[in-house]
Amino acid sequence: MSQIYDVIILGRGVAGLASAIHLLCSQSGLTIALIGAQPKFRQPQGETLAASAEQELKMLGVWSDFCKKKFPIISQTFSNWGTKKLIPTTYNALSKLGWQVDRDVFYHCFEKKIKKISGQYLCSIMEPILQLKKDNSYWNVITKNTAVMGRILIDCSGRRHVSFRQTSKKNNIDKLCCSYAYLSLNSGIVTPTPGVLIEPVKNGWWYSTLLPNQTMALSYFTDSNLLPKKIGSDIQSIQKILAASNYTRRRIESGGFDWLSTPKICQASTSRLQRFAGNNWLAVGDSAMTLDPLSSHGITTALWSARKAAETILKQNIHLTPFCSDSYHQEMELAFENFLLQKNAIYQMENEFPENIFWKNRRL
Ligand SMILES: Cc1cc2nc3c(=O)[nH]c(=O)nc-3n(C[C@H](O)[C@H](O)[C@H](O)COP(=O)(O)OP(=O)(O)OC[C@H]3O[C@@H](n4cnc5c(N)ncnc54)[C@H](O)[C@@H]3O)c2cc1C
Repeated sequence: MSQIYDVIILGRGVAGLASAIHLLCSQSGLTIALIGAQPKFRQPQGETLAASAEQELKMLGVWSDFCKKKFPIISQTFSNWGTKKLIPTTYNALSKLGWQVDRDVFYHCFEKKIKKISGQYLCSIMEPILQLKKDNSYWNVITKNTAVMGRILIDCSGRRHVSFRQTSKKNNIDKLCCSYAYLSLNSGIVTPTPGVLIEPVKNGWWYSTLLPNQTMALSYFTDSNLLPKKIGSDIQSIQKILAASNYTRRRIESGGFDWLSTPKICQASTSRLQRFAGNNWLAVGDSAMTLDPLSSHGITTALWSARKAAETILKQNIHLTPFCSDSYHQEMELAFENFLLQKNAIYQMENEFPENIFWKNRRL
C-alpha cells in the first residue's frame, strides 16, 4: 500500500503554498503532499497586493525575501468613483497603499521558503490533478504519474475548486467578469496619471496600470451578460467601450499606446461555498470564496485563510479524534459577510449611472 499522508494540499497558488509553509513550520511532524500544476497565471498582470498582507508575509517568514524583490510601491490610486473628478484615493476604502506584484516573482518567495523547510515531511508533486475520490474516509488523488492517499484535504485549487463533487456547492453573488489586454507605450508620457486608475462607466469599471516594462495592463470589468460577444476576438469591440470612457481613454491616447493583443476574458465574480469546511476537508483562498477584485484583497484573504486552515488542523490530533472544522467555517463565514458589507458600501458610493443594470444590480 502507498504511504498515507496526513494532509493533501491541492493547488500551488498563494493559498496552497502558504498552507504548506504554515504546516511545515509548525514542526508538528505531519506529512504533507502538495499537489498542483506549475502555476500558469491567467489573470491580468499589475495586481495590487494590499498593505495588510505584510502581517501574513511576516508570519510565513517570507517578508525579508519579499522586500528584496523590490516590487513597485503603489503610493496612490486615482479614481473618480463617487466623485465628479479624478482624485487620489490613497487611504480611502477603495484602495490602500500596497505593492504591484509580479506573480511569478511573488511565488518565488514561497517556493524558496518551502525548499528550505520541507525536509522529509513534504512530498511535492508538480502535475495536474486528474481525479479526486474519497474512499473509506481517505482522500485519493490521481495525477499523470502518481496516486496519493491522505487523511485531510485542503482544497486550494482556486476558482476551479477541484473537490466540488465531494465537498460543497458554490453560490455566485454576481456575474462579474474581466476583459483584459496589454498595450505598449510609445510616447513615454501618460496623462492624467501614470499610476493606478479606476474609472466607473455605464456598464462596469476600468482598471489600468503601467507595468515596470512600460506596458499598460488594461482591464474592463462588467457582468458576463453585458460583455459584447466579439470582445475576445476583436479589438474594436473593446475600443468602442473605451471610447465612451473619459480618463482611461485619455491616458491611452496620451501615451500613443499600441494594442499588443486582442483582449482575454476571465471570471471575476464574487462567490462562496455553502460550507467552507467539513468532514476531513477545508477550502482555502479562491477555492472557498472569490472576492470582487475592486477590493484588491483576494491574495491577502488567501494568505489569511491558509493560516486559519493550518491552525485548525494543528490544534487537533487528526489521528485520534474526528476532525472538527466548525470554528474555521464560522471564521470564514464572518470574513465573507464583512467583505460583502464593504463591497456593498463601495458600490453605493458610486451613483453616476443609477439607471444602468450593472449598477442597479449592485444597489439592491
Ligand atoms: C481579474 C482579477 C483581478 C484580480 N486582482 C487582484 C488584485 O489586484 N489583488 C488581489 O489581492 N487579488 C486580486 N485578484 C484575486 C486573486 O487573484 C486571487 O484571490 C488569488 O490568486 C487566490 O489565490 P489561490 O491560491 O486561492 O488561487 P489561485 O491563484 O487560482 O491558485 C490555484 C492553483 O491551483 C492550481 N490548480 C487548479 N486546478 C488544478 C488541477 N486540476 N490540477 C493541478 N493544479 C490545479 C492552479 O494551477 C493554481 O496554481 C484578482 C482576481 C481576478 C479574477
